Amino acid sequence: MTKNEQRLLVTGGSGMVGQAVLRCLPDDYSVTAVSSKDYNLTDPTKARKMFRDVKPTKVIHLAARVGGVKANTDYVADFFNENILINTNVLMAAHKYNVQHVVSLLSTCVYPDAKWVNYPLTEAQLHNGPPHRSNFGYAYAKRMVEVQSRAYRQQHGRNYTSAVPNNIYGPHDNFDLEAGHVVPAVIRKIFEAKNNGAVPTFWGDGRALREFTHADDIAQCLLKMVGVPDGMPYESEIPCNIGTSEEITVKQLVGMVCDIFGYDGKVQWDTSKPGGQLRKPSSKGRIPHEYKSLYAGLKETCEWFALNYPNVRGV
Ligand code: NDP
Repeated sequence: MTKNEQRLLVTGGSGMVGQAVLRCLPDDYSVTAVSSKDYNLTDPTKARKMFRDVKPTKVIHLAARVGGVKANTDYVADFFNENILINTNVLMAAHKYNVQHVVSLLSTCVYPDAKWVNYPLTEAQLHNGPPHRSNFGYAYAKRMVEVQSRAYRQQHGRNYTSAVPNNIYGPHDNFDLEAGHVVPAVIRKIFEAKNNGAVPTFWGDGRALREFTHADDIAQCLLKMVGVPDGMPYESEIPCNIGTSEEITVKQLVGMVCDIFGYDGKVQWDTSKPGGQLRKPSSKGRIPHEYKSLYAGLKETCEWFALNYPNVRGV
């Protein structure tokens, strides 16, 4: 099939990673990006309708119920139900409508908890033990995408595979303090502290180590995995870690954002609140890619946030 006959479908197209995929695509590439407003993918009839309408040849499947530690804990059953339905419906409909290439997103937080794995986290360890209790609903649902993709590959020869990114940040993130992840929460709290003087408080003691990757880098890796615009798609039943493999503490992250916004006031740590797993370093992935430095990526994201505030998601 030539480049001109390819049609890319991006589920979760209104989200942070979906928007990054659109930014990173060549202007003339045929793409349809959809959100839950277009097709609620927990409903199998909507998932099938999406494939009939769009007629994709390749899919980057990003749609998911996504959130930070608090949302994952408070709504653990919802995270399980919605994600298992979305993923099952999307892969079943992709096969029904004869789509050969689908890359779905997992997350390093779906890997087994510390006592079941050796660091760095390698793809082969994905099913070695239970995930961390704080997000087991999301984690088991996401792991099943890998199982379902492998099953379609084995039974029907489909090139359905998955990528495993670590913490992603960037423009169009969710800056809701209850539902969002650590980077958007830190950006929002420091920005608001600088502007109204309230002392920012963060969960845990700041010692937790994390790897952070800009959404544009994740988008570029995913495009390489589906062979867009014109490369060979990634063909393997083994999922693929993507993202930087540089760990920093949450305290260092806060320090960088303070520096970027020029905030030199007080910062508080609430140790009565969970800080999540102490660390979950991932192995270097097999997709060759030169990643942005964390400081440069954060600076760009902070500038985007300041420019768009308060008209940003979750504020
Ligand atoms: P966002 O929360 O920014 O976007 C989620 C997207 O999924 C939105 O487009 C949303 O549509 C869509 N969606 C949610 N529910 C449904 C539904 N029922 N039917 C159809 N679409 C739905 O997520 P991100 O861009 O941050 O994440 C993209 C992917 O990356 C997800 O699969 C996530 O699990 C994974 N990931 C994210 C990480 C992160 O740090 N953010 C880390 C690792 C993995 P709408 O706008 O209409 O709500």
